[in-house]
This record gives sequence, structure tokens and C-alpha cells, in this order.
Amino acid sequence: MHKIIDGKVVAEKVLAECGQEIESLKKAGVVPGLAVVLVGNDPASKVYVGSKVRKCSELGLYSRKIELPEDATQQEVLDVVLDLNADPQIHGILVQSPPPPQIDEDAIVRAINPAKDVDGFHPENVAKLALEDASGFVPCTPAGCMRLLKEAGVETSGAEAVVIGRSMIVGKPMALLLMSKDGNATVTVAHSRTKDLAAVCQRADIIVAAIGMPEFVTADMVKEGAVVIDVGINRVEDSSAKRGYRLVGDVAYDEVVSKCSAITPVPGGVGPMTIAMLISNTIKAARQSLA
Ligand code: NAD
Repeated sequence: MHKIIDGKVVAEKVLAECGQEIESLKKAGVVPGLAVVLVGNDPASKVYVGSKVRKCSELGLYSRKIELPEDATQQEVLDVVLDLNADPQIHGILVQSPPPPQIDEDAIVRAINPAKDVDGFHPENVAKLALEDASGFVPCTPAGCMRLLKEAGVETSGAEAVVIGRSMIVGKPMALLLMSKDGNATVTVAHSRTKDLAAVCQRADIIVAAIGMPEFVTADMVKEGAVVIDVGINRVEDSSAKRGYRLVGDVAYDEVVSKCSAITPVPGGVGPMTIAMLISNTIKAARQSLA
């Protein structure tokens, strides 16, 4: 029996919890506020920023979109971040990635007040995650994956987990969460230099795929009964689709689905969770600002 983990349903649940929190914060006189900074014209970034701002207004959060031109300078972006750091209406700041090449993204992330870093990319929050300090912000996508595992009733404690990918956005924080005292899994992190990835994956009770390659994880790599979390979002050409492409994950869903006990689809799995966890982090930032 395999179970399709419905990310839309779990994201709605997270957002419903957020709705209650927003109401109680409003009673305490605080409207959580998120600022989203978009530098340049990247079409995918525009879509992401649009949906983040829309979700905020649906939920009654205050949000502000700040758009800077493609040729914005490092100082201009920094000035925006420093203004937002000082703005009491803003509890969360997000600078949409990737910025144009003249922008030093790491320096921008380091300039964000860690107490407002709702993406969880600032070194202080990375350290807090490693230290299991609950006051930090956990990156939204891996936080969403953990919530999906919990909601699907997957036992992570003692499980063999293989995370494929070691990025700071997904792979590394995912591994830290799984090995934390909350996750208690035995974690292997695989990456582009891993030898015999198929053999490594075959050991796994839980596979988290964050590679960025369409349908990379195939059925022969998956143990019977494993749980598969597919973080990948890849466009592949499809002349029968209206836009000329369709979205697929990093897992060859059609052949893996019958082998595993639970799996996230793409779209509709991890994707909807990322924005829900961003809202949740913004509320946490607002709550912590009261302390
Ligand atoms: P990345 O490019 O930063 O990292 C990819 C990782 O895959 C690297 O660590 C690399 O070592 C590893 N890798 C590359 N080739 C490999 C191979 N042959 N074998 C094993 N490992 C290999 O990507 P990322 O930012 O971590 O994103 C990964 C995927 O997740 C992308 O498809 C991205 O679009 C998607 N993503 C989705 C969400 C979401 O909200 N669902 C959020 C972030 C990223």
C-alpha cells in the first residue's frame, strides 16, 4: 500500500494554525509583517514573490513588496535591507534568490537582522539549527519536509535517512533536522561526488531528493516500503502542455510510486509547504519581537 502525501492539505492545516496565531497577535496589538525584496526581472522569482505576497494578504498579514531594477547596486540592496531591519512594521525580511550577478547574495543575507531572517539563511540561524536552539529560524523547505513526514505518520526515530543534495537551502538543513533530537534518524548525505548512489539509497527507509535533476531517482534505487520526499521542481518540455512544459520532481514518480510506502507528488507535495512555513516563520518572528 502506498500513500500519496498531499502537501496542499498539510499546507492548509499549517496556514489554518497560522490564522489563529495571527488573530491572537492582533489582539496583542501586532500585525505580523513580511517584506519581500525582488531585485531584477527573473520571471520565476516574480511568480514566487507574487504568490508569497498574495498569501500574506489572504491571511491578513501585512506585506510589502520592494522591487529594485536589474542593474541595482550592492549598496542599494543593502540600504533597503537596513531600512527594513529598522522598520517596526516588518518582522520578516526575504530577499528573493537568485539576485542578478553583480549582487553578493551572501553579504546581503548577512546584513539581514537574524531576528527577521525568516528564510533561515543567516549564519546565526544556521548555527542555531545546528545547536538545536528553538529560537532560530529553520529554512522553509526542509521545515516543510519534516512537517510532511510528521503529518504522514512516518517514524523518523531510528530510521535510515538518505538526503540527496547538500545545499544550504535544502540538503544540509534537512540532514540537521533529521539527525536532531526531534528527528533522531541516522542520516547519510549524498551529493554529486557520492560513489554508487544507488547502493546508498537502497539502504534508506526515508529518501529526501533535492538534486535539481528531473526524475533522477529511479525505482532500482528505492527499497521496497521506503518513504520518498521529492523536493525537486524541474521544467521538462512537453508539447502537449499548454505552456509547452510540465513540472516534474527529482524522482521518477511513475516507477517509484508502487515501490514505496509513501511519496510526495510534484507538484502538490513539498512545494505548497515552503510558503506555509514562510508564513509560520513570519508569525514566529512577530511573536518573538514581543518578548
Ligand atoms: P542545488 O543545485 O543548490 O543543489 C543540488 C545538490 O544536488 C548539490 O548539493 C549536488 O551535490 C547534488 N547533486 C548534483 N548532482 C548529483 C548527482 N549526480 N548525484 C547526487 N547528488 C547530486 O539545488 P537546491 O537549491 O538544493 O534545490 C534542489 C531541487 O529542489 C531543485 O530542483 C529546486 O528547484 C528544488 N527546490 C524546491 C523547493 C520547493 O519549494 N519545493 C525549494 C528549494 C529548491
